[in-house]
Amino acid sequence: MNLGGKTAIITGSSSGIGLGIARAMANAGANVVLNSFTDTDADHALADEISSVSGVQARYIKADMSDGTQCRELIALAGQCDILINNAGIQHVAAVEEFPVEKWNEVLAINLTAAFHTIAAALPLMRGTGWGRIINISSAHGLTASPFKSAYIAAKHGLIGLTKTVALETARNAITVNAICPGYVLTPLVEKQIPDSMKEYAMSRDDVIEKVMLARQPSKEFVTVDEIGGTAVFLASEAAAQITGTTISVDGGWTAI
Ligand code: NAD
Repeated sequence: MNLGGKTAIITGSSSGIGLGIARAMANAGANVVLNSFTDTDADHALADEISSVSGVQARYIKADMSDGTQCRELIALAGQCDILINNAGIQHVAAVEEFPVEKWNEVLAINLTAAFHTIAAALPLMRGTGWGRIINISSAHGLTASPFKSAYIAAKHGLIGLTKTVALETARNAITVNAICPGYVLTPLVEKQIPDSMKEYAMSRDDVIEKVMLARQPSKEFVTVDEIGGTAVFLASEAAAQITGTTISVDGGWTAI
């Protein structure tokens, strides 16, 4: 796969899936822009490391994806955007009657509304070059539900609706728009859910992993960040030029049930 000369912007890429996608894009030859809401030496060191390992240009740009203005500034500061990966996401686990309103708003802002802003800012750049790839990281929870995750599941379903709509608006412009729907990947986001799920389900850590998380993943294995990265690189390739407006599940069979 050769993505040489392309620039990929990956939101929320200082850890987990986003970082895995950034590494995969860089290994395929794309220049990468890493992002998160912090601005630490470690954030910039990650970009330096990717640059030295893959021989591409890698930059870190701070932008808080809960703020629409900063979402649009991220694209403007990057200056070039051939591949946009909307990956930043947070989770909050609570029963709907007890779901804090500020958490609902934050989950919707970062997991859904940020993609609206970045897409709106990136499309003129893609139309300008006559080529583009937008890859939205939804979830198996964009296609199915589980209790106690109302905001996340609403946002991830909404992100698939946004994916389909923008795909139709760009179908004649060599721009594709798709969503990847991962099952459980053992990243910091999932680690953070384990204590809350232990409380909600009154279970031990091992039981939450086995009986709640991987219960619905028939492979009984966590998906890896490399598998998500490889899927993103495929969607960015010419082989995927006619794949648009759809979802690709990488979930060990979860949504086949
Ligand atoms: P993670 O917590 O490891 O990484 C999330 C990234 O987003 C981090 O780099 C974090 O700094 C960044 N981020 C958080 N809030 C931000 C903000 N306001 N502005 C900018 N960046 C912000 O999580 P992950 O598991 O790698 O999740 C990445 C994406 O994959 C999310 O959209 C998540 O919903 C989705 N996903 C994860 C799983 C899973 O099992 N881990 C499954 C399906 C979908």
